[in-house]
Amino acid sequence: MAGIDFRALRCEVGMDAVLRLLRFVPSRRHGEQLRGACPVHGSRRPESRSFSVNLAKNAWRCFHCGLAGTQLDLWAAATGQPLYQAAIDLCERLHRPVPRPPHPRIISTARQTRTSSANSS
Ligand SMILES: [Zn+2]
Repeated sequence: MAGIDFRALRCEVGMDAVLRLLRFVPSRRHGEQLRGACPVHGSRRPESRSFSVNLAKNAWRCFHCGLAGTQLDLWAAATGQPLYQAAIDLCERLHRPVPRPPHPRIISTARQTRTSSANSS
């Protein structure tokens, strides 16, 4: 299974793109802060404001579900997919290549360093 550069993906695909795919219609807008019906638990009332999203920070929170996260977490939660699958699905729907980690060796070295320092302490 090839890795995904989630950080690059979060930089390239904004919250607004995910909300568009989810057909999210805000019931209230205050600058970059939107409120509306939650696409994760599927609020029935269109005037619902349980779902809060910040476009500038690419962050969301639902006061009903108690869930929160990035735009990738939102797509995963709303479509019921694991994060890895959700990231690939999101790229396919947006017709863009899946960003892959540029230096897998550096990442694995960093992981080993963390493990050895945890063992020594
Ligand atoms: Zn919710």
